[in-house]
Amino acid sequence: MSLRNPLLAKPNLGHLALMARFYQERTEAREYDVGHSRSEAERLAWGETQLRWHAERGKKAPPGICAGCQRDLKDIEPSIELGDGTRVHLRHDHGCLIKHGQRWRSAADRALIAIGLEKPHGFTND
Ligand SMILES: [Zn+2]
Repeated sequence: MSLRNPLLAKPNLGHLALMARFYQERTEAREYDVGHSRSEAERLAWGETQLRWHAERGKKAPPGICAGCQRDLKDIEPSIELGDGTRVHLRHDHGCLIKHGQRWRSAADRALIAIGLEKPHGFTND
């Protein structure tokens, strides 16, 4: 992450600037307050920033649609609610849950990279 990101120097640039500032603050908190190495702090902060971006701006599956496979959730198929109103099929291999996680984390990556943040080396969405 570059601390010289121009978005950080200008107030009121919207949600993406808030995400950049959040990432910077969380990285510093993880490094200086908790004592993680810089690279560990960046990976942990990236995950937190992905989660915040998703909670605030991530695309949610419509009611009745599995957020993983995008198929209808039929009443006879078991499913679980994820706390944000979305549901996924409850499969023995957790395939729908995993697919949903990979999809929203990838979307968050694209948004965060678009504002100039660098995804930490070694961070994966798996
Ligand atoms: Zn599904």
